[in-house]
Amino acid sequence: MTTKQPKDKDLIPCKRIALVAHDNKKHDLIEWSLFNRDLLAQHKLYATGTTGTLLEEALRIPITKFQSGPLGGDLQIGAKIAEGEIDLIIFFWDPLEPQPHDPDVKALLRIAVVWNIPVACNRTTADLVISSPLMSSGYKRTIPDFKEYRDRFRNSKGI
Ligand code: PGA
Repeated sequence: MTTKQPKDKDLIPCKRIALVAHDNKKHDLIEWSLFNRDLLAQHKLYATGTTGTLLEEALRIPITKFQSGPLGGDLQIGAKIAEGEIDLIIFFWDPLEPQPHDPDVKALLRIAVVWNIPVACNRTTADLVISSPLMSSGYKRTIPDFKEYRDRFRNSKGI
């Protein structure tokens, strides 16, 4: 009797990865993504509009694209996080250039922390995250329990 061996792909839990880069960091992200193309190809990729278009051309991997960042793309990724549909963000933001959508950038970084989503903001962190053995080990992220927060106006305040 032969046992069916799972393919390599079956052993790698597919993660939903959002990729974003500010304009001065797009080159960096494309270079990083090309180097890690085979790893990225094992996951489901999302990106803000311009970043996604450039990455799709470079990587030849389908990417779900949102609006351009300043037009709401960062907020769309944030909404996906709140809905539990993003597992990791690679966000090369530019620390030396003011952004018109700075509040959106802050909102995205904030909601990622709220839901315990890993965020890599530079190449070194992205290298360490993408090559972590936990990426392919079925690691389960702890989802914070906000029951106490949600219930804060119940009972004691008579609501
Ligand atoms: P972009 O947006 O990929 O559409 O350039 C990125 C951002 O500035 O958030």
